[in-house]
Amino acid sequence: MKEALFYDRISDIVVQCALCPYLCSISPSRHGQCGVRTNRNGKLFSMTYGRISTGMVLPIEALPLYHFHPGSKVLLIGTQGCNLRCPFCNTWRVSQAGARTRFVSPEDLLNIAKTREVDGVAFGVNEPVVYYEYIMEAAPLLRNAGLFVVVATNGFISEPPLFELLAVVDAFLVDIKGFADTFYQTVTGGYRDEALKTIISINIKKPLEVSALIIEGHNDDENALDEFFRWVAMLQPAPPPLHLLRYEPAFQYIEPATTPMRMYYLQEKARRILHYVYLSNMDEREAKVTYCPSCREVLIVREKGAIHFEKMLHNSCSSCGKVIPVVL
Ligand code: SF4
Repeated sequence: MKEALFYDRISDIVVQCALCPYLCSISPSRHGQCGVRTNRNGKLFSMTYGRISTGMVLPIEALPLYHFHPGSKVLLIGTQGCNLRCPFCNTWRVSQAGARTRFVSPEDLLNIAKTREVDGVAFGVNEPVVYYEYIMEAAPLLRNAGLFVVVATNGFISEPPLFELLAVVDAFLVDIKGFADTFYQTVTGGYRDEALKTIISINIKKPLEVSALIIEGHNDDENALDEFFRWVAMLQPAPPPLHLLRYEPAFQYIEPATTPMRMYYLQEKARRILHYVYLSNMDEREAKVTYCPSCREVLIVREKGAIHFEKMLHNSCSSCGKVIPVVL
């Protein structure tokens, strides 16, 4: 176990974790709400430091990140635990059950990444906030070796740890589980505005993409979505790319999958005010095309696991010269 980086002692024996907005008060031998941080003799420890449950090499588009080193390969890793309790989690075996793990030190992780010849390492699968200490140690090692580091998170993290994380991570994906505050809180247990605050902070400092799960009939209320699209469009210095994730039954949710028709309708709606809107869990070409926001030429096509640069020349549209926010 690794001593946690963000906590306070609130008595001789009780500690308060300061990593995420729950600010759990934890008595000796008890855990925080995420289940993977524990009080041992008045100190807070991370129980999943280096305890890797998942490791796989993927195209970065699978995360999904479309505007950060498109076409690159990442080693995606995860541990155990999460600070939210989403009943539709599609990685619930690692986030909400006791998946098998093996210890991989930050140095070993670097060696694995080199052996697998990836361009970067992605921390995700389960919520990376709950294995924060591992990322803080591994990320500088990986970056010093020339690899990039990305984090796919629910954004439910307190500001002081987030600001330190921003210094060691190259790009982020933040996944929003719902747009209506009541849905977010009732279903995930968290507070939507904390995740929105994280998006604002990251977008100022680092390449960011935002994803949003669409569960037809549950969290796709048009007024709430319109408000969310407008909110994304107002983000400074520029709105991030938005991925709408098509829900499919998982874990405790057995409602039918969101229909492709609903997804295309929402993509069209979002595209009226946002330049880069993509659909995930969909095979059709149109779901994943990047268009030039100026002249509407096709810039990047992602199809059957392959990526084709059409009218893209370096960072610009080769047809009209518009600069496109893509990190190559
Ligand atoms: S990271 Fe875990 S222990 Fe810490 S405040 Fe969040 S849920 Fe509680």
